[in-house]
Amino acid sequence: MKNIEENKSYIKSLTSMNKEELEELIISFGEKKFRASQIYSWIYKSIKDIHSMNNLPKKLLDNLSECHSLYSITVDTVEKSKTDGTRKYLFSLDDGNYIEGVFMKYKYGNTMCISSQAGCRMGCVFCASTIDGLKRNLKPWEMLDQILLAQLDTGEKINHIVLMGSGEPFDNYENVKAFINLVNSKDTLNLGMRNITVSTCGIAPKIREFAMDFPQVNLAISLHETEDIRRSNLMPINRKYKIDELIEACKYYVEETNRRITFEYALAEGKNDSYENMRSLANLIKDINCHVNLIPLNFVKEIGMAGSNRKAAERCKEILEELHIQATVRRELGSDINGACGQLRLLKRSMNE
Ligand code: SAH
Repeated sequence: MKNIEENKSYIKSLTSMNKEELEELIISFGEKKFRASQIYSWIYKSIKDIHSMNNLPKKLLDNLSECHSLYSITVDTVEKSKTDGTRKYLFSLDDGNYIEGVFMKYKYGNTMCISSQAGCRMGCVFCASTIDGLKRNLKPWEMLDQILLAQLDTGEKINHIVLMGSGEPFDNYENVKAFINLVNSKDTLNLGMRNITVSTCGIAPKIREFAMDFPQVNLAISLHETEDIRRSNLMPINRKYKIDELIEACKYYVEETNRRITFEYALAEGKNDSYENMRSLANLIKDINCHVNLIPLNFVKEIGMAGSNRKAAERCKEILEELHIQATVRRELGSDINGACGQLRLLKRSMNE
């Protein structure tokens, strides 16, 4: 039994292969090269399994499924909201780690929030993803498969992607870059750069690199505090890249790309949601073309920090708007199913204990 399990992790998924690798594989089966292009286009259609490719010879499909899986990850559980169509996925990786993804319905289309790492080493105190530290970086196709499997499960096309699940995208930058280029390709998902958003806790040098590499991709900054000592206590990355350096990098991004930046600000009751806090926030970002996304902090049992209530969040929005800063309070989607990112994974861990 153990051997079978061990071997499983060496099965290469078709989603992890590029066209050239597929061609080599097909030729090794003694089939014609053009079959590789057929397979390549099937892969991105969110099909159920290898045998769904119904214009290919059965013998070839049998051969393929003997030594390859279609996807590199599998859906472990899905939680479906009864009220708004949100679905939260717990995916298992081939090495036994878990990651999460969330499918959300908005007026402008379907959005998938994906993970970029299993776990996270950034150590933000309010975040469930960081509790066991970083397990490992995700490969580009493990990010892709979260989207393909959610499309398969919902039967709907995903139009927007946000890298706001577990992990810090800029701590796995090479793979994130490869992922963005992959899904943007006309031969795959053909997702517009403007339909992708990357969220970071504030790795300043990477923000600058990102502005050069992807001037059309949206950027969100998890700010949460506006003063160094307080932010460092909440988000250890701030000890390395202080607020000044972060803000300079944000200004650089906006100047280089001509795009508006988003500041994420999670509201914790009595900690960062006062009139003074909002004034200090407005003062910090007043020269930047930006938008503030206010998110009442999701309660994480293991951490025990309480979020501000809806009314307090609305008041913060009004204060910011009076100070000429555009702000929204994030709609709470899927509030009837398991809360903040990282929580499904923790639930799974506690069930296994
Ligand atoms: N590492 C990246 C992306 C993953 S976190 C980042 O820091 O931006 C995605 C967002 O969820 C971040 O804004 C993060 O600060 C926020 N977040 C984490 N835990 C949360 C919680 N308990 N309640 C509300 N937002 C949370």
